[in-house]
Amino acid sequence: MQILVISDIHANFTALDAVLADAGQVDAVWCLGDLVGYGPDPEVCVERIRQLPNTVCLLGNHDAAVLGKLDQEAFNHEANISVSWTRDQLSPASLGFLQGLRTRVETQNVTLSHGSPRNPIWEYLLDINTVLSNFSFFKTPICIVGHTHIPIIYTHNGNGTVDWSIPQPGVLTPIQGRAILNPGSVGQPRDRNPMAAYAIYHSDENSWEARRVEYDIASVQKRISAAGLPFRHAARLMDGW
Ligand code: ZN
Repeated sequence: MQILVISDIHANFTALDAVLADAGQVDAVWCLGDLVGYGPDPEVCVERIRQLPNTVCLLGNHDAAVLGKLDQEAFNHEANISVSWTRDQLSPASLGFLQGLRTRVETQNVTLSHGSPRNPIWEYLLDINTVLSNFSFFKTPICIVGHTHIPIIYTHNGNGTVDWSIPQPGVLTPIQGRAILNPGSVGQPRDRNPMAAYAIYHSDENSWEARRVEYDIASVQKRISAAGLPFRHAARLMDGW
């Protein structure tokens, strides 16, 4: 099976559309949360995800904040402006869809979680010690997370150490032993590469294929400005940071 793995769309429909077109025919979709927040297209992004067949979708911290499930004081001022604006843009059907999302899903071989298996909503897997301790919080061989907006592969060596690598786009990486994988962000990349990031998980071969695709960043920036959302959320798209 080819499984499209996407995360952190952040209401950027132009990026989401480019990713879905670039991915082509897939057997299933795993969406790791943060469908909304920052970007100008929350309703159309949630609608598009709702319509995708064979899709597992998780709740991210921005989605939870829009639903009022998180204390908004945990967000910075600019993110808060976006959260409040987003709440007004979503239809009852889309709010209901977000309301029904889980924070963590386990299949036979894979655990899916937005932030980390230990703390699906909040924890960032950005340093090796945090990553290492999180290997105790899932039982499956593989865990896939989003949240940091940085595509990366962490591999557990079995001797209490973790290796990491940045996957080359378009290259199939066989997954060895236990691993934590991150596809990066569709709608707001933060690895200094402005192209939308996603991955294909080839479940039969147990391999991971990171991918990048260009999209019309300027059109998204214009809509962010037109909506009166913070300028920084538009500016950073061009830098991928
Ligand atoms: Zn995010």
